[in-house]
Amino acid sequence: MAMEVGRRVPPPHGSAPRRQPATGGGEGERVRVQAGDALPLPIRHTNLIFSALFAASLVYLMRRWREKIRASTPLDVVSLAEIFAICGLVASLIYLLSFFGIAFVHSVVSNSDDEEDFIIDSRHKQARAAPPPPAPAPCALLGSPAAAPEKMPEEDEEIVAAVVAGKIPSYVLETRLGDCRRAAGIRREALRRITGRDMDGLPLDGFDYASILGQCCELPVGYVQLPVGVAGPLLLDGRRVYVPMATTEGCLVASTNRGCKAIAESGGASSVVLKDGMTRAPVVRFPSARRAAELKAFLEDPANFDTLAVVFNRSSRFGRLQGVKCAIAGRNLYMRFSCSTGDAMGMNMVSKGVQNVLDYLQADFPDMDVISISGNFCSDKKSAAVNWIDGRGKSVVCEAVIKEEVVKKVLKTNVQALVELNVIKNLAGSAVAGALGGFNAHASNIVTAIFIATGQDPAQNVESSQCITMLEAINDGKDLHISVTMPSIEVGTVGGGTQLASQSACLDLLGVKSANREFPGSNARLLATVVAGAVLAGELSLISAQAAGHLVNSHMKYNRSSKDMSKALAEATAVKPKKC
Ligand code: ADP
Repeated sequence: MAMEVGRRVPPPHGSAPRRQPATGGGEGERVRVQAGDALPLPIRHTNLIFSALFAASLVYLMRRWREKIRASTPLDVVSLAEIFAICGLVASLIYLLSFFGIAFVHSVVSNSDDEEDFIIDSRHKQARAAPPPPAPAPCALLGSPAAAPEKMPEEDEEIVAAVVAGKIPSYVLETRLGDCRRAAGIRREALRRITGRDMDGLPLDGFDYASILGQCCELPVGYVQLPVGVAGPLLLDGRRVYVPMATTEGCLVASTNRGCKAIAESGGASSVVLKDGMTRAPVVRFPSARRAAELKAFLEDPANFDTLAVVFNRSSRFGRLQGVKCAIAGRNLYMRFSCSTGDAMGMNMVSKGVQNVLDYLQADFPDMDVISISGNFCSDKKSAAVNWIDGRGKSVVCEAVIKEEVVKKVLKTNVQALVELNVIKNLAGSAVAGALGGFNAHASNIVTAIFIATGQDPAQNVESSQCITMLEAINDGKDLHISVTMPSIEVGTVGGGTQLASQSACLDLLGVKSANREFPGSNARLLATVVAGAVLAGELSLISAQAAGHLVNSHMKYNRSSKDMSKALAEATAVKPKKC
């Protein structure tokens, strides 16, 4: 990334800088802030006290002087009260001179354009060789609230004051300083001064801020820590997979783990990727519905597909147009382009291809008014029937046959109870609720935990969690056939948050880190099958827990926990989040 080139070595400063006492000397902004910070009283009260002291001492001494002259008393004969008055006058004079004098001198010598001042100053300081930062203390790396704050360098104090005063926009810090960690520290300190909140529990050190620049998160002030649990092995398509799940919901990993165990003891699960295509649907408006219909006919005519594909595919080596589905609302035309995207989740890729096609169409349809590159027929991060029916991202079905003895031994229930519960709850119950793709117990729990662990876009859990869970008794009613059908799992192994260190490590655990050079797209598809396989395990375990009536007990055990979890985990019985 651009920021990594020629980055300035950060000066040492603390993980959560706090108020520093005035160090004396220095330029206006910094001195004002520090002096105020160092005083035991608010600065206006201190000013008032010293001004009153000055005036009182002066008036008293003048009067005494006049009386002495009238009485012909020598001036060098002073009483105790006069000595106190002289001391008070001198002390208040020193205070007032240093307070107003320095501010006045600064206002004379400083440049009126503070932001420009800051830029020049930063460049100047960047040129100076700075010592390498000390390795963060272990407690700082852990973000411990007990970590002792280090002193913020004077040059950063100036920038913090300017950000607080609104003279420097916080968002320019990374670009201007060329040091992402330093920028985050300054922003954090400015935020602390503005809000009065320390955010001590939010760690600052121990994160590579350059890795998120321009890609994952703007205006960083720290990072949230999330525990990652692992469920597995999940025996899926002959592979033993350990599934990383980032969550703060007690029971979830344990429950999924139990499902994995039941699947593995029954010989494993198998999956099929039915479809693989990301979609983007721009909306355009014509003077009339008739004109909109003409473009619809053009786009859906198979004879025009090759031309459109050539135009679309120019955007990427991996984006390949699969089709266009159109819908009309009055004179507005919604064109849902679908394309393969290799190992990327593909939103950027498909958007670029769509832009190419819109530019191309404009020549033949000059009256076409592009309203938006995204007209919500895509449909991204919203619950929508179009994804449920047509699919978006990876459409996956995953199944397993759970043996009768495993249902009894591991899941502590029976096949008949599971099948019946699934019909009444996941099928009929969801129908009663008017669910859209929500014919499952808690698919979104597993989807979201894996998404966060592996750097997917967590907001896409909306459509990625669409799932119908089917349970049937087979082999004369003895064994259980379970399947999950998930038409819109949106995942990638390149781009977005997948390249960050933690997320990349989780992808590596699954054997799908980054792009698959030999078979582009196969890593992302494999990840989608793991998501479906883990959902299968999660569904199996939760439905079993509910069928066996263990739900409340397990929650009392896992969510209202005692310190010793090992016994509870070893039992691995009924576990499931209460919300489902
Ligand atoms: P998205 O389209 O999911 O937003 P990005 O545009 O952030 O993803 O990342 C995709 C980038 O990764 C593209 O520039 C693409 O050329 C590159 N890339 C490298 N290898 C692959 C691959 N196997 N599949 C997809 N993209 C790849």
